[in-house]
Amino acid sequence: MRKILFFAFLPTLLGWADPYTHLRQLFDFEAYEKRIHALTNLPAVRVFSLGTSRGGRNLWMIEISPPTPSHHAILLLGSAHPIEWHAQEIPLRLAEYLAHHREKLRVFCYILPIFNPDGFAYMRVIPVFYASNRKNRYYPPTEKRPSIYTAGVDLNRNFGYHWQKTSHDPSYPYYSGERPMSEPETIALEKFVSQTPLSLVISFHSPGKTVQYPWGYTLTPQTNQKLIHLAKWMAKTIGNGYKALQDSANYLKPGCEIDWFYGEKGILALRIEVSKKLIDTSLEDYTAIQTMIESLVCTPQPWW
Ligand SMILES: [Zn+2]
Repeated sequence: MRKILFFAFLPTLLGWADPYTHLRQLFDFEAYEKRIHALTNLPAVRVFSLGTSRGGRNLWMIEISPPTPSHHAILLLGSAHPIEWHAQEIPLRLAEYLAHHREKLRVFCYILPIFNPDGFAYMRVIPVFYASNRKNRYYPPTEKRPSIYTAGVDLNRNFGYHWQKTSHDPSYPYYSGERPMSEPETIALEKFVSQTPLSLVISFHSPGKTVQYPWGYTLTPQTNQKLIHLAKWMAKTIGNGYKALQDSANYLKPGCEIDWFYGEKGILALRIEVSKKLIDTSLEDYTAIQTMIESLVCTPQPWW
C-alpha cells in the first residue's frame, strides 16, 4: 500500500503535471450534487436523502412520478463500487433523461446513482486502480497509516441474505463487514426498501456486458422463469453483445445486493455489468441501455 500511495502522489511531489487529472475530474461529488439538485426544478421530480454515509455524505435518491398513478415502481441502483465510474454515471444520466420525459412514464422511478459516496470522494484524492477502491471507507483520505488506510467494507458483500464473513481484517479488499447490513449505506437502503413497495430493482456495476440474475451466493440454478426471461429480454434489448447469466456463473458473491432484494425482500432484482472496461469514459453502451430502460418503464411490459 505504501508503494501505491507513493506513486499516486509522486508527480505532485516532483512538481510534474498530474497524470490523474482526468480521473480526478470524473470523481467530483460536489458536481454530482449540483446535477442532482438541478432536477428539483422539474415537475414530478423529488430529490431526497436516504441518510448519510459514515463520512457524512448524503445518499441522494431521485423520485420521478408518472403522469397517472401506478402500482409499480422500479429502483435503479448505482454501483456499490465507486471505482466503476460509469456504473454511477449511467444511472445519473438515466435520471436526467427520465426526469425530462416523465410524461412517458408508466411506473414510479427511483434512482440512487451514488450508493457509496465516501468511496467516490476517495477516488478523487487517490485515483488508483486498487481493489480497496471498491469499498466504503472508515477513515478520510488524509489518513496515511498503511495498516488502516484501506479499512472499509465492500458494500456489495454486506447485504443480509446468505451473508458470509470474508475476513476479520477490515483492510481486506473484499471485507464483508463485522455483520450483515452493518454499514450506514446498507442500513439506509434497507429502511427505504421497507417503506417503498418496489416491483423491480436494476443494479449497475462493471465490467462484463452481462445481465445477471440471482443467485450469486450459490451455484444452485435459479428456478424463477420470470426472472430469467426478464434478464434475457434486457440483454437482447440492449444488444451490443450483452448476455444473460446467473450471477454465480463467474464467481460466488455471498452478501450481494440482488440476492438480498430477491431472496430477502421478494423483489425481482437484476444486475447489469456494463461495458467491457472497468472505467469506460466513452459510455458507448449508454444509448442502448437508455433504450432498454425506456422500453421497460414507458411501454406496456409483461413484467409489470
Ligand atoms: Zn462492482
